[in-house]
Order: sequence, then structure tokens, then C-alpha cells
Amino acid sequence: MADGVATQVKERTDIVALISEHMRLKRTGANFKGLCPFHHEDTPSFVVSPSRQMFHCFGCGESGDVFSWLMKRESMTFPEALRVLAQRAGITLTFERAEKREERDRLRATLDTAADFYHAILLKTAEGREARDYLRDRGISEESIARFRLGFVPVTTTPLLEKAKERGVTQDDLLRAGIFGSGARGPYERFYGRILFPLSDHHGSVVGFAGRILREEPTRPAAKYVNSPETILYTKGRILYGLDRARDAIRREDLVVLVEGYTDVIASHQAGVEHVVATSGTALTDDHLTLIARYTKHLAFAFDADEAGQEATRRAIDLAVAAGFAVSVVLLPSGDDPADLAVRDPAAWRQAITDRRDVLSFLLDRARAGDQARTAEGKQAIANDLLPLIARMPHAVARGDALERLARTVGVEARFLREELERFRVPDGAAPRPAVFTPRTDAASRVRREERLLALFFTAPATFSFAAEHLPPEAFTTGPTRALYDALLAWYNRAHAAGDAVDFSGVHETLPEDLRRLVDVLQLALEVEGEEDVVLDADHDARTLLRDLLAQSLRRDLQEVTRKLPTASPEEREHLLQEVARMTEELSRAEQIAP
Ligand SMILES: [Zn+2]
Repeated sequence: MADGVATQVKERTDIVALISEHMRLKRTGANFKGLCPFHHEDTPSFVVSPSRQMFHCFGCGESGDVFSWLMKRESMTFPEALRVLAQRAGITLTFERAEKREERDRLRATLDTAADFYHAILLKTAEGREARDYLRDRGISEESIARFRLGFVPVTTTPLLEKAKERGVTQDDLLRAGIFGSGARGPYERFYGRILFPLSDHHGSVVGFAGRILREEPTRPAAKYVNSPETILYTKGRILYGLDRARDAIRREDLVVLVEGYTDVIASHQAGVEHVVATSGTALTDDHLTLIARYTKHLAFAFDADEAGQEATRRAIDLAVAAGFAVSVVLLPSGDDPADLAVRDPAAWRQAITDRRDVLSFLLDRARAGDQARTAEGKQAIANDLLPLIARMPHAVARGDALERLARTVGVEARFLREELERFRVPDGAAPRPAVFTPRTDAASRVRREERLLALFFTAPATFSFAAEHLPPEAFTTGPTRALYDALLAWYNRAHAAGDAVDFSGVHETLPEDLRRLVDVLQLALEVEGEEDVVLDADHDARTLLRDLLAQSLRRDLQEVTRKLPTASPEEREHLLQEVARMTEELSRAEQIAP
């Protein structure tokens, strides 16, 4: 019932008191304001809303509730934040915790026993010989084998269960820890025939295993790598291989190097380059990034020239950029992997890391190297490829700088790209940062006007009937504003069909989480405007915005149609001209919407 507890804890926590422990807040009407702790500013745009139990910065877009405050400010995990706040609120989580802790402890003991057992087999037995030879051939030293507690699970039956019983570990424990699987003929050792890499959490206790097949049998094909099933200790997307040993070096170097394989990590550490980790059996996740952010905000991906262009690589880069990391690329010769290089020539591996390129230079160079940058279409393609990445950069200065560099590469003025950038400003990735309009100012940007109009619909629902009739959903240019408009339309149509008066106050709870947050922030923005002594005439403002957005999208369509005219066939031409007439008429109607 963690969810119920979290809600309870949230309700009993005073968000203003909590945040006030770290910074000065000043009351402004129903809300509180202060200088944003997440970006540098001279006039406060950081707002705390007690009624919505949220904080939001209208300068940098940082946003969240009591839990995310602690997670962001104190680098806590969610469970840690929950524990701290529960304690503050006087809510005991002890019952649940005692039971869980016992289960965890059992699981840990089981995994530890298995790790010891298989490690000894690798080191000391005849059955482990072939695996020892394989690791030696890959250049992994005995010291590294011991340090990373590598193991081997022979194909022949091993007396693991006997050994385990001596330590009070049962067959059922082995099954639940995922070390045994249950098959038609009873329990079997899941990792048989595999070299075992114990996976540790960042404190160094074993939470699961990855097994690499030692001898590939063409008659019995098997996956090269197998991971433990997920348990209460082990979640794939939350484990970084080697992090327990790399933590200090990552802090010291203020950089983490992300590689792909377990042997890459081991070989690198062996070469004395210890700020290196790998994702374990999965693509990079937001949870990984949260974990890394505790130690550094500088992340380098290491891959060879062949991998550089792959989509998975690009997705990981985008994710890290969106999470606010300074991302760079360690490029290896085609077909080389970090393990080979680190074993063959430790100095060269170290040098490759030193020579890393920041991600934008790397991507721009790649674009320039192709012949794309020579044609107009090619330039557009480069811009389309890189603008979403730039839009994800959470810091305005970095974004501006990146934009200038892209502009130079494609040879256009930055201001043209800036306008296009706006289209991508609301990322669809895991960390949604709505480009919420700043109170009072900034009527210029299209997205912000769309957002403001949506906010006004909640305050002045009567203006919506005109929108429903004339403003098509395509007039909204970002995923979230469009989705919210769609939701309002559906709500309106239902109410309209039933003959009810339109009132959007019930929409909130029907929305998905991300849109609900957007609505909260939009309404907060309007509220803050009101508190700043701006006379708000919602009805008037809504009409003006409606007119502008409608006119703008009609003009855009009109332009598009007119552009097609010169090359159109006579029949097409006829049709296009009719379109132009219709749009012109709609446009003049739109322009008459009384403000
Ligand atoms: Zn801020």
C-alpha cells in the first residue's frame, strides 16, 4: 500500500514549511515566492502553492511536490524521501518495513551464498578451468576475478543446495532469488554453463546475477547473456554494473564513463580507470540517470564508430541531455571495445577518455562529414535531427549556445532556428518540462500563447464554444497542448450533447498524470498573474488569444496552399483556388472576433 501511504504523507506535509527550511519564501496572496534554487536569478520566479501541494519555477521549469523537492534538492531516492517525510508527519511505516526487511535480508544471504559458492568453483576446481582460461584470454587478471567476485556454474550437477543448507538457505530461497529456475523435472540451476557476474547495488551488496554463456553449442542455441529475474532487490533499470566500485572515482573525476559490457568495466578498472560503469542487460533509463546524478552531472558514452549512428545510442544521448547531464562521447576505432583497448593499451584507453568530444560537436561533425550539409534539404534534415536534442537541454544558456553552433553549421541565422526550436520545447521524454508561460510577459511565443489560452478556458469556459466550432486541434503545436485541447473538446462535446452548461472543473481528475500536472502549473501561472496586480479579464484575454491563434494557423495554411499554386495542374489549381477563397473568408471572420 505504498501508494496510499505516499498520499497520506503528502497530505500531512506542509510544503511551505518544508521548502522554507532550505530557502526564504515570501507570501504573495495564496502562494509563496522565492529565488529559484535550481537556476540563477535575481527576481523570484519560484512559486510554492500550498493548495496544490506543489512548487514550480516559471524561469527554468523545475516543478514537483514534496517528494520531488527532497529528491532534487537532497539527492534522495523516492523511498528515502518517503521515509523522511513519513517520520516528520508522524506516520509509521514500521510494520510494512519489518516484514520487507526480513525478506530482503533472506534474499541477500541467499545471493551472497551463491556468489561465494560459484566464485570458489571458478577459482579452485577442474570444472572451472575452461572459464578461467577464457577470462585469462580476454586479459582479465586473477586479481580482477577476485575483486569482482566472478563465478562459474558448471553444467554438471553441483552441490550448491548442500552448501546452502549449511548456511540456512533453503531450496525455496534459491528459487525466489532466481538462482534456481523451476522446470518440468524440478528445480535447475538457471545459470549453468555460464560465467557469473554478480550484480551489486551501489552499496556493494549482491542483488542478482548476469551469466555469460561459456561455450556456444550450435545444436542448442542459447542467449549469450542471461540476467536474474527481477526481485524486490533487483530491478534491471536501476542497477549500474560496477557503480559500487566506481563511486569514489566518479566523484573525484566528476565524470562517469558509460560502457556496454561487464568485461569492459572490469578491464577498465584493471587498467586503473575506475570511473566506468555499464547498464546491466537493459538500455539506459531515467532511474540510472538519477542514480548517477548523485555523484556527477558529466556523462560520457563510450562506443565505436559503428555504434555511433545507431538509434539506441541516440536515444540514450537524448535521455541524458534531457536529464540535465553534460554529455560527451568517447569514440573508439571501429570494431574495438573498451575491454580490448584497456587490456591492450591502458594509456590509449585513458587518452581516448581525455579526448572525448562534447555531444553536440560530435553530432555536428558527423553531419558535416556527410554531404547532407551541402543541400537545402540536407540542412533542414540536420536541423530537424538536432533541434529536438537542443530543445531538451534544460538550461537556457546551453540551449542558446547550441543553437548558435547549429546555425553556423547549416549556415542560417540563429533567429530562424530559434522559432523552430519552440516547436520542440516540450519534451515528450521522461522528464516533462512544460514551457509554461511566464506570468505577465512573453506573449510572443506561440506555445506560451497556446498554454495561456488553455488556462483561460478553465476560468472562462463560455469562450470555449467558439473555439470548439472554429479552432481545429491542429492549431496546437506541441504534444501536450494538443492533448489537453483534445481532452477539453471531448469534455465540452459530452456536456453540450447532454445540454449541460460547460464547466471544466471536473476535467482534472480524468486526465493522465502529465496533463494533470500541466493544468496545475497553468492554473498556478494565472493565479500568480492575479497576485501581481495585473487586472485579469479572462473573457477578453481568451477571445484575443483565440483570434490570434486561429488567424495565425489560417494564415499558415493559406501560405501553404498559395505556395502550391504555381506548379499545380489546371484541375488542382481550380481546387486550390476554392480553398484559398474559403480560408480568406474564415480569416476575415476570425479577425472580427471582438476582443
Ligand atoms: Zn528556476
